Amino acid sequence: MQNVKNVSLFQALVNAKATGSLKQTEKVEDGALSDRISGGAQGISNYIYNLVKDAVKLNCPVSFVTQLESYILIGNDDLSVKTKKVIVTAPLPVVKNIKFTPELPIEKQTLINSMEMGTVIKCNAIYDRPFWEETGLSGSMVCLDEIVELSVDNSVPGSDRGIITSLIHANRAKELLQLSEHERKEILLKAYANIFGEKALNPIMYIDYSFTNNPWIGGAYSGLFKNGIYSKYGKYLTKPSGNIHWAGTETSTLFKGFMEGVVLSGERVAKEILNQN
Ligand SMILES: Cc1cc2nc3c(=O)[nH]c(=O)nc-3n(C[C@H](O)[C@H](O)[C@H](O)COP(=O)(O)OP(=O)(O)OC[C@H]3O[C@@H](n4cnc5c(N)ncnc54)[C@H](O)[C@@H]3O)c2cc1C
Repeated sequence: MQNVKNVSLFQALVNAKATGSLKQTEKVEDGALSDRISGGAQGISNYIYNLVKDAVKLNCPVSFVTQLESYILIGNDDLSVKTKKVIVTAPLPVVKNIKFTPELPIEKQTLINSMEMGTVIKCNAIYDRPFWEETGLSGSMVCLDEIVELSVDNSVPGSDRGIITSLIHANRAKELLQLSEHERKEILLKAYANIFGEKALNPIMYIDYSFTNNPWIGGAYSGLFKNGIYSKYGKYLTKPSGNIHWAGTETSTLFKGFMEGVVLSGERVAKEILNQN
């Protein structure tokens, strides 16, 4: 177990309950990780984007939200929009990038300043075929003592290619992020070779990504509160700040940290606004 001193036990228990149990969050059969989205998760965003294209402004980060008497002004140096309501869905740690006028209530500021995103690197090694199957192996491993703690066979159904994907978390991820992508690749491939054989050393492609380096997301899988914050301020997560409403996976009561939680938070915030009108 890593980074335990930074983990709020209360938040961990609440998150586990929100998904059924700690075990349920990790299960690949009949659990939170049992289904895959054909074509990748981005397909859902792309599908919704195509439905509402004209109303969406891409590559346009909000830098200010100003609540005036009869409307809100939201935007950045290049573009601003007048609106009655704002729904903030950015992870709380990166809400710091937005200047709110008047300032947000102190409870909300405390939440924003006390939440950190976790650290995860997603690493993919792509092979011309799933060679591990030839020796009866699954392509999946759990190896708690190694820097590569787990891998799964992430090959795409219908494709000849074989893909091994690893998710590397917390301190191990922080260590690997100090290295170049080439150095990370060497470490991962050696670990795969130890388990799956020498063929693992020769992928046709290797690619990894960490949201820690993305200034608009800040990390993964979701926000973690410092100890003592959630029990005191958790109830303010969803509380509207005037005409500013809050959604996103951290604000959901169920499936926090999952896409399911995002959808549920969207439904909750839509009802919240409709009920006010
Ligand atoms: C490697 C990895 C694997 C995962 N696997 C799974 C899985 O198998 N199943 C699952 O259910 N979940 C999974 N998740 C978690 C899932 O991706 C998150 O729970 C989900 O994306 C959270 O959605 P969100 O809308 O709350 O936040 P985000 O997806 O972080 O979206 C917030 C958006 O706000 C934007 N934003 C931030 N600041 C601003 C600003 N100032 N102005 C305008 N826009 C801004 C960001 O660009 C971003 O698009 C995974 C996450 C990672 C990183």
